[in-house]
Amino acid sequence: MPQRELAVIGGGPAGLRAAEVGVRAGLRVTIYDGKPSVGRKFLVAGKSGLNLTNVMSPAVFPNQYSGEGLVSGEWARYLDAFGPDDLRKWAMDLGVDTFEASSGKVFPVGKKAAPLLRRWVLRLRAEGVHFAMNHRWVGLDPRTAGSGFGLHFQCPEGEVRVLTDVIIFALGGASWPQTGSDGGWVPLFEDLGIPVTPLAAANCGWEFALPAETLARVDGAPLHNLRVRAGGREIQGELMLTRYGVEGTPVYTLGPILRKAGKPIIEVDFKPSFTVAQLVQKMESVRRGFLAEAEVRWKLPRAAGLLVKHFYGEPPSAEALATWVKACRIPLSKPRPIEEAISTAGGVAWAALDKHLMLRRLPGVFCAGEMLAWEAPTGGFLLQGCFATGTVAGEAAVGHPLT
Ligand SMILES: Cc1cc2nc3c(=O)[nH]c(=O)nc-3n(C[C@H](O)[C@H](O)[C@H](O)COP(=O)(O)OP(=O)(O)OC[C@H]3O[C@@H](n4cnc5c(N)ncnc54)[C@H](O)[C@@H]3O)c2cc1C
Repeated sequence: MPQRELAVIGGGPAGLRAAEVGVRAGLRVTIYDGKPSVGRKFLVAGKSGLNLTNVMSPAVFPNQYSGEGLVSGEWARYLDAFGPDDLRKWAMDLGVDTFEASSGKVFPVGKKAAPLLRRWVLRLRAEGVHFAMNHRWVGLDPRTAGSGFGLHFQCPEGEVRVLTDVIIFALGGASWPQTGSDGGWVPLFEDLGIPVTPLAAANCGWEFALPAETLARVDGAPLHNLRVRAGGREIQGELMLTRYGVEGTPVYTLGPILRKAGKPIIEVDFKPSFTVAQLVQKMESVRRGFLAEAEVRWKLPRAAGLLVKHFYGEPPSAEALATWVKACRIPLSKPRPIEEAISTAGGVAWAALDKHLMLRRLPGVFCAGEMLAWEAPTGGFLLQGCFATGTVAGEAAVGHPLT
């Protein structure tokens, strides 16, 4: 019997993992990618340490994943197929040990992506995966009996058409388009009749305007150990004030809530360890110059004081300042552009997929990774989600009957 052909389109972690599953099950696998090399965003992720996964309990790990139309419980199944322990073992098998930081985040020793990617690609080649680089996917002909699907690619030498039996798309989101993930697949999928939830910036900074004078004094200021609230959720962490607004894990995590809000607003508690009454008590003898005194007595960062002053004015009393510092409401204008975001929300609609991540409209065509309509906070959940869905799609492609 001739060996079945699997085309994996997109060589990020989701596609590489799907290819690994396919080749190990005996399929002839080719990875096509529009760029001259695979894993470019994986390498970018390595620049901030490559947070591979998280040690969060399996009971709550799946709750990190959200998205329009996501069927609750599905993520537990994906993570069963390839969970955090599998990912750590996978790295170990490539000769790269992992460690757990105090936050629960898991990193490769050395905190670099390049050694992992290099060894992974070498191993995939040795296992028989063929790499077709500089192949930008531009079209799909539905399967015909006996000849399979037709795939169209733009290559430096012109357009080429290849035939294949099964396909896994793993084309990524639309952040950091210079890495190859530019969302150019969206209109192509829509032309094929596949619904796509609009792509949006996730895990990104948010903008708000400050007068130039204030801006000059707060730009680049880190604000540690604060609590940020929006839509009934509260996240502890650090914020960084920038020339356009604010960055940091709390606003990244609150992104899904902020995107849905008509008028996005965050409420920041700059002094979460103290009550208003405790703060007021520390100012007992103070009658004026409350902001300057707060820097000394409350250790309130100057940037926090400037923000409070911008939004509320000069404090008339210690009590007023304490109340504002404990609940400083900052109206946001919009998220930063998707090109700058760490990840992308939206993607191939869940209603378009069966539980094996196969497109209902195109039996034999599967999707994996960030191009699906899910999002997750930073903390290792993104790469874990890509490896898990790559595994599910790979296994399903292996088992798909050819008719
Ligand atoms: C700055 C930054 C830091 C990050 N840090 C972390 C982290 O520490 N931990 C974490 O979990 N996640 C992190 N991420 C997110 C993580 O890198 C992504 O979620 C992950 O790479 C997505 O994998 P993917 O395989 O779905 O898609 P991608 O990695 O985006 O790969 C998609 C591939 O498809 C190719 N492609 C796209 N369109 C076409 C086409 N038409 N034809 C052919 N090929 C095409 C692209 O060239 C690309 O190679 C980070 C992201 C960024 C930007």
